[in-house]
Amino acid sequence: MIIRSKWILDSNGTLLENAVLDIENGRVIQVRKAKCYEKSYDLGDGVVTLGLINCHNHLWLSHVNYDPSSYNNFLDWTKFIIRYVDEYEKDRVLSALETGIAQSKAFGTYCILDIQPLWMLELCCEFKLDIKLVRYVEILGKGLDEIDKALILNHTDGICFHGPHTVASDTMRKILLGFPNKNPPITIHIAESEYEIEFLRTGKGPWKELLIERGFDISRFAPFGRSPCERLLDLGILGPETILVHCLHLTQKEIQILKQKGSFICICPRSNLNLHKRLPPLDELLRYGINLCLGTDSLASVIDLSLWEDMKCLLEHFPQIEPKSIFQMATEGGAQAVGLGHYSIEGAVIKSLIYVESELDVKDPYGSLIYSFDPKGMKWIGELNGL
Ligand SMILES: [Zn+2]
Repeated sequence: MIIRSKWILDSNGTLLENAVLDIENGRVIQVRKAKCYEKSYDLGDGVVTLGLINCHNHLWLSHVNYDPSSYNNFLDWTKFIIRYVDEYEKDRVLSALETGIAQSKAFGTYCILDIQPLWMLELCCEFKLDIKLVRYVEILGKGLDEIDKALILNHTDGICFHGPHTVASDTMRKILLGFPNKNPPITIHIAESEYEIEFLRTGKGPWKELLIERGFDISRFAPFGRSPCERLLDLGILGPETILVHCLHLTQKEIQILKQKGSFICICPRSNLNLHKRLPPLDELLRYGINLCLGTDSLASVIDLSLWEDMKCLLEHFPQIEPKSIFQMATEGGAQAVGLGHYSIEGAVIKSLIYVESELDVKDPYGSLIYSFDPKGMKWIGELNGL
């Protein structure tokens, strides 16, 4: 089977005009220029490219409608989410997953790293997936010093310690002792707010009050006096299979530690602007060569799950950064972070590819694709009739 499109744009900079994909057994075996009079399935004048990888979501929160007028600050929003989670109706979780997955697919997302509470794991393994889901179980709350290792290894792809300011260091240590040979892949929210930094440095402040209100034993978070990354370094959590989410308040020293450890940073731009009115130091992270990927976060902090809008947001706030670098965060970078490995059109399964109606500007292919993306003009190549 041969599929033709006016443009084929890969994440590695390859742009071909009047190009075709040779497909065998559901996989692209070659990307090349079309030959004259060659018979092919012609998609049209748009672009074939890779489906996106969303490295941070909490799909079970897909029924929360983010409403900026309801919260004055991050602490307010946090208290709102705590109330929402306390009153969560578990029988609505499958419909929340369906909502989030349907929306992600409509925006060209091929794979989602989804953070799921422990109670969701067995409930959702029967769920018929219409997307590639990478599941991380979330450790948050009290009484979780020991978790079932077999449950983690059989039903999940990794562990999400919610954050260094919400999960006692003592708890993280005890759970990791259950994996003596090698830590499972880990993702964790870090350096997101000033409350977190203050609490980790001093053991005091509004975050301490919130934890006490929730019945946490503050002494289990000791020792204090370290930055978020230094705390993770002490716990042995940083490595190439660790994805650190947000990272809005990093010191130079922390960036150097992350570079040395090869950890990934997942940026959630619109969520960060909505909740904190700031973004991570992206140009500096790129300059250091940090491994980067992109996430939307959940519908509790953004109005939709479009990674294209997140890419646009980064292009607007960092006009000096090459659009290609931003596109790579949402494709190749994300695939490396979630363990899918090398992610490029040649060799890809066709169900990971999308066709986008777009008038590509050859001088700025990635920027023009990001700005012109419209879900109404997008198709999944694996779902085309006649293939
Ligand atoms: Zn999150």
